[in-house]
Amino acid sequence: MNFLPLFFNLKGRQALLVGGGDVALRKARLLKRAGVNLTVVSHGIIDELKALLSHEQDQIIIGEYHPALLDGKVLVVAATDDNALHERIHFDASEHNIPVNVVDTPSLCTFIFPAIVDRSPIVIGISSGGDSPVLARLLRARLETLIPQGYSNLGSLVGRFRDQVKARFSVLNDRRRFWEYVIEGQIAEKVFSGRDTEAEALLTEAIKQGKVGHQIGEVYLVGAGPGDPELLTFKALRLMQQADVVFYDNLVSPQVLDLCRRDADLIYVGKQRDNHAVPQEGINALLVNHAKQGKRVVRLKGGDPFIFGRGGEELQELKAEGIPFQVVPGITAASACSTYAGIPLTHRNYAQSVKFVTGQLKNRKQELNYAELIHANQTVVFYMGLHTLPDLVKGLVTHGKPENTSVAIVSRGTAADQQVLTGTLADIVSKQEQAQLPAPALIIVGEVVQLQEQLSWFGTVGDQQSVAHALSMSKAVES
Ligand code: SAH
Repeated sequence: MNFLPLFFNLKGRQALLVGGGDVALRKARLLKRAGVNLTVVSHGIIDELKALLSHEQDQIIIGEYHPALLDGKVLVVAATDDNALHERIHFDASEHNIPVNVVDTPSLCTFIFPAIVDRSPIVIGISSGGDSPVLARLLRARLETLIPQGYSNLGSLVGRFRDQVKARFSVLNDRRRFWEYVIEGQIAEKVFSGRDTEAEALLTEAIKQGKVGHQIGEVYLVGAGPGDPELLTFKALRLMQQADVVFYDNLVSPQVLDLCRRDADLIYVGKQRDNHAVPQEGINALLVNHAKQGKRVVRLKGGDPFIFGRGGEELQELKAEGIPFQVVPGITAASACSTYAGIPLTHRNYAQSVKFVTGQLKNRKQELNYAELIHANQTVVFYMGLHTLPDLVKGLVTHGKPENTSVAIVSRGTAADQQVLTGTLADIVSKQEQAQLPAPALIIVGEVVQLQEQLSWFGTVGDQQSVAHALSMSKAVES
């Protein structure tokens, strides 16, 4: 270990910063965040840096560095572009045993700034010992995605109750178990979902009881997005990684499922069309039972749980049973498929509104309100419409939508084998009969589809052409 990581309390202490440009500004920001009083010396100082130095103990000196400036300083940072000056500063500071940092020059540093993940009071510093700041920054970015912002609030909550808990549990081991119970359980989750008051009440109660009681579990209704695991949210990933049991359906891709906690029970409750693996009431009961056993249950749904996902129905049941829950939105198929197909759902020249419609009604005899769907300058997106495509097209046309309106079918959107088929209301049915794009598929109707050719970006062009090519081949055989 070339550098020892230490966390210094520098509040109200004086430091010297030599330099007045952008690099100096970055260092000044960090030092000010830690409550340091700064003396900045430079021939020129940028306005942003000046604006930072608002404390009465801060000082701006326009001019030359000289060793007397080191008097009373606990830290020195050199951030100019003058190497000779940097060496002098290093030399002077070392003479006075003052820690010194010279930007981008590890050999002149007696301390270095780590890459920082700041969830104060929790702070993580990452250092490569000056060898590769880029690597340290990359690692930092990874940690940023893993550690929820809520850790700040959790850290403060623990801090506020520290003395009380210490008084209540005199044995160190009991105290540790108690804090684990708080930090890994429902109290922490309350904090993460912004319910600090409830978290405090639960914590106060747990301290009063003096024991780590059986806690009721919690259900997380999580949107898994359209398939590409990179389209998960940080929050979805975090909850998936702490789940005891995961209930998923057939729209959840194997790659996404792979990201669940290794030892979680993964239970399939999906349904194919007309073939329900587990009926909805059964799913509701499963969620309730597992939560009552104290488990952390993830209910993973394709896309967004509140868009044609029956998420609302499952939550009503949980609410009735008094089971705590959280909902994590996901990227819905309409957003994902249109984006990955290169079709903007709105565009100033073509569509000022967009409608999400289900192609499969609860009662099969019911009809869609086609009069609402034929307006010009509007994009209509049909979910679950592949099997009723001929009916949908007929409905739109008989209600007055022009036959030359553009249509796209996006099959298995965002997956490596995504396919896009485009046409018009006049020919999309026969094109799909020949192409047989598989489910899940989304149907997009509107002029915006015309942009697809120009804006298509995902997958190889070859793949996209292969549908057109296959079609022209089959036409050739027919004729
Ligand atoms: N809650 C989901 C939708 C569930 S309904 C969401 O927000 O996306 C199921 C329908 O969604 C499918 O019939 C299909 O129309 C659409 N769908 C979901 N994922 C899809 C994908 N990857 N590609 C194309 N369509 C998809």
